[in-house]
Amino acid sequence: MKGYAMLGIGKTGWIEKERPLCGPLDAIVRPIAVSPCTSDVHTVWEGAIGDRHNMILGHEAVGEVVEVGALVRDFKCGDRVIIPAITPDWGALESQAGYSMHSGGMLAGWKFSNFKDGVFAEFFHVNEADANMAHLPADVDPVAAVMLADMVPTGFHGVELADVQFGDDVCVVGIGPVGLMSVAGAALHGAAQLFAVGSRPVCAEAARRYGATEILNYREGDIVAQVMEKTNGRGVDRVIIAGGDAECTFGEAVKMLKPGGRIGNVNYLGSGENVLIPRAEWGCGMGHKTIAGGLMPGGRLRMEKLAALLQTGRLDTLPLITHRFHGFEHMEEALLLMKNKPRDLIKPVVIL
Ligand code: NDP
Ligand code: ZN
Repeated sequence: MKGYAMLGIGKTGWIEKERPLCGPLDAIVRPIAVSPCTSDVHTVWEGAIGDRHNMILGHEAVGEVVEVGALVRDFKCGDRVIIPAITPDWGALESQAGYSMHSGGMLAGWKFSNFKDGVFAEFFHVNEADANMAHLPADVDPVAAVMLADMVPTGFHGVELADVQFGDDVCVVGIGPVGLMSVAGAALHGAAQLFAVGSRPVCAEAARRYGATEILNYREGDIVAQVMEKTNGRGVDRVIIAGGDAECTFGEAVKMLKPGGRIGNVNYLGSGENVLIPRAEWGCGMGHKTIAGGLMPGGRLRMEKLAALLQTGRLDTLPLITHRFHGFEHMEEALLLMKNKPRDLIKPVVIL
């Protein structure tokens, strides 16, 4: 089978591989619709998780089951499924401790396009199929559902990590597709003032649609000053980080946060040695300004619950999709869009 792969740091291309084998608990899936992620960009062009050779990329997919293992109970060939980016080993101790995304070691629940071939292939393998796939509801558009694999659960996890409460003032730093889902999630969790930081007009427009009360352009001035001015010097209760960098963004978040506030980071810090925290604004270590960061939770239940939000109309992911391609041959073009981030891009989907 063919797949679009990371050949080495900074290099991608098409490769031929054997079709994966299906274990007794597993499934083999043919993708129906896939999307490249900014994480693929960090992995390939920043070498953020180290070198990888001939590893098929991609971890966002909706697909059709083509093979199931003998012990799989709830899925059969021909079923249309949503596959989360994170597919944990559910029996691992880390999973029993509540951190399935770290099953088998830190970040090891993230298998596709990390240390296992991903979904940009004619076929891909899903471990523990009953626990790691969800049926695609008949009334949910598969293209909209691709956003459930990673963008929605990651953006929403930022909201969970920041622990947004009714009436909180919230700032979401970064409004690419992940941050936009943090905006939507914070609005669903009852944010009051909801600041959204970004510069692409297409993202700003989507952020307003998802519930942002104010757009702050980081290219047009210090975002801390902008937040302080708009909150009469009080700052915000919660900050969700879905963009920016290790050097400046955490400092800005700490500065704009009230004592007792929480920062939820879902940004994948692809470069830089240290995360810089400003000592004085962190209350000299005593400010009760909590910084939490996490990989999205995966698994079937999460996918089913998020799909229910699409079914009930509480969430619409289609505004995220600015570019649609038809056919495998467009995989590279779609990935390069995520790398180059043209001004009119939020997220591309490749329909197969
Ligand atoms: P995008 O690149 O599309 O969006 C990044 C956003 O950050 C844009 O709005 C951008 O603004 C903004 N930004 C860039 N620099 C700054 C800055 N200095 N200060 C403030 N804002 C800034 O990324 P995605 O939404 O696709 O992904 C966001 C992050 O989430 C990535 O790092 C990705 O790898 C990560 N991720 C993490 C996962 C997890 O489980 N934790 C899973 C999936 C993704 P502009 O409008 O100018 O472009
Ligand atoms: Zn991703």
